[in-house]
Amino acid sequence: MHPHDYGHTLTVWRHVLATSESYEIEYRLKDSNAGSYRWFLARGMPVRDETGQILKWFGTCTDIDYQKRIEEALRQSQERASTLMNSSIIGIHILEGEQMVDANDTFLRMTGYTREDLREGRMNVRHMTPPDYLARTQQAHQELARHRSIIPYEKEYVCKDGSRLPVVVGAVALQHHPFQAIGFVLDNSARKELERSKDDFINMASHELRNPLAALKMQTQLVRKRLERQSHHEAVTALSRAEGPIKQLERLIGELLDVSKIQAGRLEYRQETVDLDALLHEVADTMQQLSTTHTIVVRGAAPRLLVGDKDRLGQVFTNLISNAIKYSPGAETVEMDLDASPETVTISVHDHGLGIPREQRDKIFERFYRATGPKQRAIPGLGMGLYIVAEIVKRHGGTITVDSEVGKGSTFTVTLPKKRDA
Ligand code: ADP
Repeated sequence: MHPHDYGHTLTVWRHVLATSESYEIEYRLKDSNAGSYRWFLARGMPVRDETGQILKWFGTCTDIDYQKRIEEALRQSQERASTLMNSSIIGIHILEGEQMVDANDTFLRMTGYTREDLREGRMNVRHMTPPDYLARTQQAHQELARHRSIIPYEKEYVCKDGSRLPVVVGAVALQHHPFQAIGFVLDNSARKELERSKDDFINMASHELRNPLAALKMQTQLVRKRLERQSHHEAVTALSRAEGPIKQLERLIGELLDVSKIQAGRLEYRQETVDLDALLHEVADTMQQLSTTHTIVVRGAAPRLLVGDKDRLGQVFTNLISNAIKYSPGAETVEMDLDASPETVTISVHDHGLGIPREQRDKIFERFYRATGPKQRAIPGLGMGLYIVAEIVKRHGGTITVDSEVGKGSTFTVTLPKKRDA
């Protein structure tokens, strides 16, 4: 072993020997075999006679390399943690249950609270969550208790001045402190603002498109009637070819309007008694007339009266059957199974088509989401149908689920409560 900072160590030693004091020196020596340095601690004290003269030195040397390494790792990890905590990129808070017990300056700045508010216990998740986000927040905290982490989700905080801040929040539980978690908060206002302007645009565009289309439709019908009266059969046939695309445009614009109404919470529902069996057969018949490729098979029965919006419920099953046909280009049938229990009615729409990969099954109910496979992409659509379907089903107190096997087909199952008073 060759002394590394030997010169310095010797100087210190000479000094302690000269001043006759006890010493304690940490130093490093190079291990020539391993080529690395190890830390040692040398301690020494003089042994004196009764006159105070030093007779000899008593010394020890300890290998403290392991301890030094731990100290260094701890220092580095503390530095990392404090760099993260002090960064202005992300808001961070430490949670104990619903109480925030610590937070970085960025989070305080985002929410307008002060360090004193934090110390006085005035920062509480429940207190800082608007009522419309409470259920989702509670669900996230249950997720934290069960899985030790929260997958980032969108919510809002109520700031100290009462304004609302859109954020994306995620959290992980601390390993050695079962009740504490560290939460990460990103300001989401820029994205939300962008979404709002997109929604405004869609709302405006769908209104602007609807009026000229209605005029075009009316004019086509008038001309058609006039031509029929004058027995211009060829011209009637030519004109009726425009009716399909007009209907398609009408449906798309209607869906755009529905999406923007749902976003604004303004989609209205009638409350009427609906004969579900009759409605489902009606929808199946209409879709059968439109399809030249598939046979629609209705099995079972749902002899139940529901309270709901007949047109909107019709829209749900029209959409599901239309998707079933659209996404099973090579198949010949689409089946609709009806079943009823004393409390619920279940309607399944089953196709033998492309199927939907597992990781995309939840996402297909999101606004404007379209599956990413090349075969799906080749089929036109805007990703609005299932979003509207899910919303209508939800507003009728029901649920919609999807079961699917890629390359084999998909089954969409809607369950509705038998009678609802609301
Ligand atoms: P669109 O059909 O206009 O794209 P939807 O909201 O109706 O919009 O559907 C969203 C996505 O879900 C579709 O893009 C498609 O990829 C997938 N999907 C819906 N229904 C089916 C189905 N029956 N089979 C396979 N994929 C489907």
